[in-house]
Amino acid sequence: MKQLADGLHQLAGFPPNAINVYLMGDVVVDAASRHAARRILRQLRGKRVAAHALTHAHPDHQGSSARLCRELGIPYWCGAGDVAAAESGDIVRYQPDRPINQVMHRLMSGPGHPVDRSLREGDEVAGFTVVEVPGHSAGHLAYWREGDRTLVLGDVINNMDVRTGIPGLHEPPAAFTPDPARNRASARRLAALEPALVCFGHGTPLRDTARFVDFVAALPE
Ligand SMILES: [Zn+2]
Repeated sequence: MKQLADGLHQLAGFPPNAINVYLMGDVVVDAASRHAARRILRQLRGKRVAAHALTHAHPDHQGSSARLCRELGIPYWCGAGDVAAAESGDIVRYQPDRPINQVMHRLMSGPGHPVDRSLREGDEVAGFTVVEVPGHSAGHLAYWREGDRTLVLGDVINNMDVRTGIPGLHEPPAAFTPDPARNRASARRLAALEPALVCFGHGTPLRDTARFVDFVAALPE
């Protein structure tokens, strides 16, 4: 795993930077697809891990969640609005009714797992503050650390075209986003924080405040 900031590491994934998992202090943030469990557990060996938190309960973020929580004996945390999806594992029920979501669900989703703590705006997780940023999912969260302006924002913005893998800033595709207008409002809220480091669910971390802020500012009203 690679250190991005004080107490923030990005685990190695395959392909690199395509589906990101972070170790934020002693909290594992996101769990990729259900095929990633062994790779994640291997990298966490010897590390202190106290909990697992999601940015949002989608197939490529909760896939290995149940296994991580069971094998590491750690609690499962997610946004209040995503608890039902995370616990049932019935992810497609909460996504737009598009065939692609059925495909992703079959390919990547993991089983549901009981949520031990539903996170809300202002909660503290490993030195980061929870920011509620709904739109891409009902309970989508970002994690913000004011001290060094570090932001872990899940899929509010992608730093990769998730369909082609080509790097670059994008809004998440509408097919995966129940409420694109709300997601865009969430992106504006995050851009207003002027983060110095942005860590995405998809794509490489970005240390260019202006590029992130300008991208969001240029989005249509
Ligand atoms: Zn995603």
